[in-house]
Amino acid sequence: MSFFGGTTSGNIDRKKYESLTLSIRQTVLERSHHRCQKCSVKFRGSNGPFFEHINGSLKDNRPSNLRSLCDKCFEHVKKKESRKGFFGSMRNNLGQVFGN
Ligand SMILES: [Zn+2]
Repeated sequence: MSFFGGTTSGNIDRKKYESLTLSIRQTVLERSHHRCQKCSVKFRGSNGPFFEHINGSLKDNRPSNLRSLCDKCFEHVKKKESRKGFFGSMRNNLGQVFGN
């Protein structure tokens, strides 16, 4: 499989979105109207924005994989990601609450 040989630009895209650039942040923020996508608080500089990787891959910075969050909501994401096992078992009980 050659890098440039494909008919799609999948490889190039992946490279392009490997780091969270300013323009990607801008795209996500405009899409969310500069608000937290969990609690809808407006960002004021000290409370965000922070960016959550929805699929958990830090190398996947496509705007579709990112959510802008305030500092409080991002705290939950960090906890969730560092305690995946614990949260995972909780999720079975709380799944309906979270809508997943
Ligand atoms: Zn929030």
